[in-house]
Amino acid sequence: LSDRLTSTFKNLRSKGRLSEADIDATIREIRRALLDADVAVPVVKDFTGAIRDRALSAEVSGALNPAQQVVKIVNEELVAILGGESRGLRLAKNPPTVIMLAGLQGAGKTTLAGKLALHLREQGHTPLLVAADLQRPNAVNQLSVVGERAGVPVYAPLPGNQGSEGESGTSVGDPVQVARDGVETARQRQHDVVIVDTAGRLGVDAELMRQAADIRDAVNPDEILFVIDAMIGQDAVATAKAFEEGVDFTGVVLSKLDGDARGGAALSVARVTGRPILFASTGEKLTDFEAFHPDRMASRILDMGDVLTLIEQAEKAFDADEAAKMAEKVASGQDFTLADFLVQMQQMKNMGSMKKMLGMLPGMGQMREALDNFDEREVDRIEAIIRSMTPGERDNPKIINGSRRARIARGSGVTTSDVNQLLDRFAGAQKMMRQMSRGGGMPGMPGMGN
Ligand code: GDP
Ligand code: MG
Repeated sequence: LSDRLTSTFKNLRSKGRLSEADIDATIREIRRALLDADVAVPVVKDFTGAIRDRALSAEVSGALNPAQQVVKIVNEELVAILGGESRGLRLAKNPPTVIMLAGLQGAGKTTLAGKLALHLREQGHTPLLVAADLQRPNAVNQLSVVGERAGVPVYAPLPGNQGSEGESGTSVGDPVQVARDGVETARQRQHDVVIVDTAGRLGVDAELMRQAADIRDAVNPDEILFVIDAMIGQDAVATAKAFEEGVDFTGVVLSKLDGDARGGAALSVARVTGRPILFASTGEKLTDFEAFHPDRMASRILDMGDVLTLIEQAEKAFDADEAAKMAEKVASGQDFTLADFLVQMQQMKNMGSMKKMLGMLPGMGQMREALDNFDEREVDRIEAIIRSMTPGERDNPKIINGSRRARIARGSGVTTSDVNQLLDRFAGAQKMMRQMSRGGGMPGMPGMGN
C-alpha cells in the first residue's frame, strides 16, 4: 500500500497548483490507507471530507510540491485529532487521586494497573492497587502478582479466600463495596494515588456497565481510563461509545500496540469521543508502557514515514534558504522592508523549524519570545494590512500619516490601532535588523545555507 501511495504522489509531483481531481485521487489513496489501518468507516468518511475541504482552500506552499502538501495536511489533521488535548494524568489537589480503569475483558486493564502503579511509584508516588474485579475467579490473584512485581501494595477482599478456581462464574463479594473500602484504606494509610481495577466482559453488556457506573459513583474518580485493545478494529467505535455512555471516561489508554495493529482504533476513539489518549501499552512486561505520542501514531496509521521525512526536509531546506536570503540582505546593509517583515511572519507559522532556527541565531531572543505567544491569524491580518499599502508606503513607512493609516485600516478590514501596532512592530524589527547589520551581519550561523 505504501508503494501505491508513493506512486500516486510521484504522479502528483511537478504539477503546479493542486486541482480538485489531484486532491480526490490522493484522498482515495488516503482513504484506503486509513481503512487498511482499521479506522472505522464513518470516521474515515468524516475525516477525508475535512481533509478535502482544507486541501481545496490551502494556499500553495513554496516549500512543498502539491502532493506533499496534501500529505502534510493529512498528517497535521491526524496529529490534531490524536493529540488535540494530549496530556498526562490529572492528580487530585487533595490526595488520594482516584484512578479507575474500565474496558472490555482482555483489554489489558489489570496489566495496565501494574504498569501505572510502577510508573507512579518511580515518580515518587505511593500508589495502592484495588482489586474490584470479582468477576473472573483468578482476577484478584492476577492483580496481586502484578502488584508484587511493581512493588506496590494491593487491597483485595478477604485475602487468601479469593481466586479459588471452583467458583468460576459466580462473583464473590461486592465489587462496589471493595472499591469503596479500597479508597478509604488508601486515605487512612496515606497513599496518594489509588488505582481501581474493574471487571470487564467479552462484549458490551448492560450489567457490566451498571457495575462500572456503580463503582464510579462509589469512589468518585479523578480519572476514568478507558483501556482499549489496539487490535479491536471496527468494533472500536461501538465499544468506545458504549463506555462513554455507560460510565464515561476522562482519558484513553491504547493497549497491545506492540502487535501488528496499525492503530486505526486510536483515531476512531479519539475522533468519536474527543477524549485524549494518555498512554500506550506495548507489551506484557510492566515496563512496556509509554506516554502516547500523537505524531508517531499518525505516521503509523498513515504508514508513510518516508514521505513525512521528505516533507520535513523540504521545509527545512526552504526555511534555511529564506533565512539565508534575509541574512545576506541584512549583511549587505540593505534595509529591511515591510515585504521582508511579511516573509518573516509567514515563516513564523512554521513554528517547529523556526524555533530551532532562531535557537541557532545570536541575538534573536526577543523573537523567540514573540514566537511563544504567536497567533497564526496574526499573519493573515498583517498580510492584509501590508497589501492595502501603496508601493510607496511599503518602501517608506515613514510617510504613513494618520489619514493613510485610516485608509489602510479600511482597506484591510482592521482597526487603525491594528495598523499602528503593525507599524510599531515593524519599526522594532527594522531597528533590530540594523543593529545586527552594524554588528557585522549575523556571524557564525551554523547550519545555515549549508
Ligand atoms: P483485562 O481483562 O482488561 O484486565 O486484561 P489483562 O490485563 O488481563 O490482559 C489480557 C491479556 O493481554 C494478558 O494476557 C496480558 O498479558 C495481555 N496484555 C495486556 N496488555 C498487553 C500489551 O500491551 N501487549 C501485549 N502483547 N499483551 C498485553
Ligand atoms: Mg483484569
